[in-house]
Amino acid sequence: MDVKQPASALSSPRFCNMGTFMRMQRVDSADGLDFVIAGAPFDTGSSFRSGSRFGPHGIRSISAMMKPNNVIMQVNVLDNLKGGDMGDFNVTPGYIHPSYDAIEAGVASIVEKNAVPIILGGDHAITLAELRAVAKKHGPVALVHFDSHSDLCDEVFGQRYNHGTPFRRALEEGLIDPAHSIQIGMRGSLYDPNEHKMAADLGMLLIPAHKVRAMGFDALIKTIHERVGNTPAFLTFDIDFVDPAYAPGTGTPEVGGFTSYESLEFIRNIKELNFVGFDVVEVLPAYDHGEITAYLAANLVFEFLSILAVKKKEKGAI
Ligand code: MN
Ligand code: MN
Repeated sequence: MDVKQPASALSSPRFCNMGTFMRMQRVDSADGLDFVIAGAPFDTGSSFRSGSRFGPHGIRSISAMMKPNNVIMQVNVLDNLKGGDMGDFNVTPGYIHPSYDAIEAGVASIVEKNAVPIILGGDHAITLAELRAVAKKHGPVALVHFDSHSDLCDEVFGQRYNHGTPFRRALEEGLIDPAHSIQIGMRGSLYDPNEHKMAADLGMLLIPAHKVRAMGFDALIKTIHERVGNTPAFLTFDIDFVDPAYAPGTGTPEVGGFTSYESLEFIRNIKELNFVGFDVVEVLPAYDHGEITAYLAANLVFEFLSILAVKKKEKGAI
């Protein structure tokens, strides 16, 4: 399909828009596209504050500020890529399994057309449904997981499906390849002092925030590359990876996190990986201030797009 370029803010003010990401064209199908952005506004998998159902709306609203050139990555995301915003998947508030079906079907409609899904959450429970669709297409993926929590619990409140359990279920369902997966940034007080060790017992590599600090930036980037290799990879970014000073609008904040700049730098420096899907989750506009959390999320999505654009520019295909 033909995709129209968004209006430039040099001729059309940013606040004049239809509420799509970066004022992109709304698309109904992924046919012929490189990427599709879609929202999964489900938040009743969350254990503390709810409200990330408004995350996609908040991220899209402030994304009107984004411009297409990534100076650091030396790429124009809109010149090099064809894509658009599909709107939101039709989730059912309070009912996780029908919501999972809607999200899985929506993501499947994107990956089946060989486009890369970029999903705006929603709480982190949604990622299980995305992984079901992505793994059906690509096989078990390498999970590249930025978060202050491992989300590997077996049960929360005695329940198996919520935002504390998605990656335990994904492992059980064979959706992720633990030997090539990595979890980065975990921190905060815990009920089970062995929670981080549990990741290793499940075959995952978990690097808590204090170890990221101790090993340093370059060593972390090298470790991610060594771990993931060329395995098809899914990047999931829980905004609570970032310190609440930079990202207050989230459901289960943990202090002692990373800055906005560091977060963008982590993403920029893993651009060589073979990414087949992305999401950014747990943005709660009601707890945000000055839209800084939503704006960071929009910028993270811009870095995801830049990774795809660099690959397309260099290799002619994603
Ligand atoms: Mn999470
Ligand atoms: Mn988290």
